[in-house]
Amino acid sequence: MTADPTRTPLLLTPGPLTTHSRTRSVMLKDWGSRDPAFVDMTRQLRERLLTVVNGAPTHVAIPLQGSGTFAVEATLASLIKPDDKLLILSNGAYGERMIDIARRLNRRFLALHWPEHLPIDLQQVDKAVALDPTISHVALVHCETTSGILNPFEQIASIVLGHGRGLILDAMSSFGALPIDLSKFPITAVVASSNKCLEGVPGIGFSIVDKSAIAAAKRDNIPSLSLDLYDQWRGFENNGQWRFTPPVQVVAALVEALRLLEEEGGPAERLKRYQRNFSTLRSGMEQLGFRMFLDAAVQAPIIATFLPLDDVDLRSDDLFVALHTRGFSIYPGKLTMRDSFRIGCIGAVVPSDFEALIDACREIVSLKRGRS
Ligand SMILES: *Cc1c(COP(=O)(O)O)cnc(C)c1O
Repeated sequence: MTADPTRTPLLLTPGPLTTHSRTRSVMLKDWGSRDPAFVDMTRQLRERLLTVVNGAPTHVAIPLQGSGTFAVEATLASLIKPDDKLLILSNGAYGERMIDIARRLNRRFLALHWPEHLPIDLQQVDKAVALDPTISHVALVHCETTSGILNPFEQIASIVLGHGRGLILDAMSSFGALPIDLSKFPITAVVASSNKCLEGVPGIGFSIVDKSAIAAAKRDNIPSLSLDLYDQWRGFENNGQWRFTPPVQVVAALVEALRLLEEEGGPAERLKRYQRNFSTLRSGMEQLGFRMFLDAAVQAPIIATFLPLDDVDLRSDDLFVALHTRGFSIYPGKLTMRDSFRIGCIGAVVPSDFEALIDACREIVSLKRGRS
């Protein structure tokens, strides 16, 4: 498999990531933005995205040109009104990014913070929401890609919905693999992008929004033209077209990637593959002496953060370079507290890819240990 030149380097990152050859090959074609074939592809895209999270009866899918952050920003800009108040729960860089967005949008917000190695605490959330009736919405990152930690989405959704407030979920690195069921937890919006667990190519963010929440959005309240989800939605509903130049090839690739997800058996089966990838990675790295940053109990099988070895002078940057020359692209750490590196378990990759990675790591480490 690694002999495939289109898989060199093998991307073991949270996205852009290794894609299936079928996903890449459907892009070798041009479409006009008004071609009936492309309009139909957009319709399929919106329907299939809804199906992934069981949202067809209650929600609409609104794709948007750009990366995931564009969709997070558009969602907050369009759904949080000037007299609303957002409670942002943060235990990593993506929670902090939502704080940054709320500040720039001039929205009323408050934030609760936890350290990067701890999941969001349910009792503190419950208390904060109960004590402040002016909080209209809560924002949560499902899998914090900073560390790879899994936040308890279902429990937080129960608390927030129980208090009659809205919940906006940044499901960027979970959508398509970790369970999100809008029929059980009808939250305000789920935001994600084309290039993580959906295994598409980068270029599209999207928001799956509660029908009444998007219908209630008011253009006058939305401080951006291109990030206006209400107008974007009206555009799709009116003529099936994107408001501005659509990323046609990216749409084609994402529809194909969604077909591959269905063929694999849906998010539950994809999660099982990621779990196999993760456990192959974890046991191999631990045998070489690497330790994981997170407790196993809070670790999602999406991206793993490792700490440098104690007995060998091998900084994360050096490992990164040594692996790159051997055909593997891993990710630098994003922890604020210490040196680390990250390895993604997502993408069109299987356990044998991780065995090959471990072999390369073993070679690098034993060169350093002087036993080779
Ligand atoms: C990747 C990611 C984003 C968006 O990042 P982009 O670089 O804009 O695609 C947002 N939140 C989380 C949790 C992510 O993993």
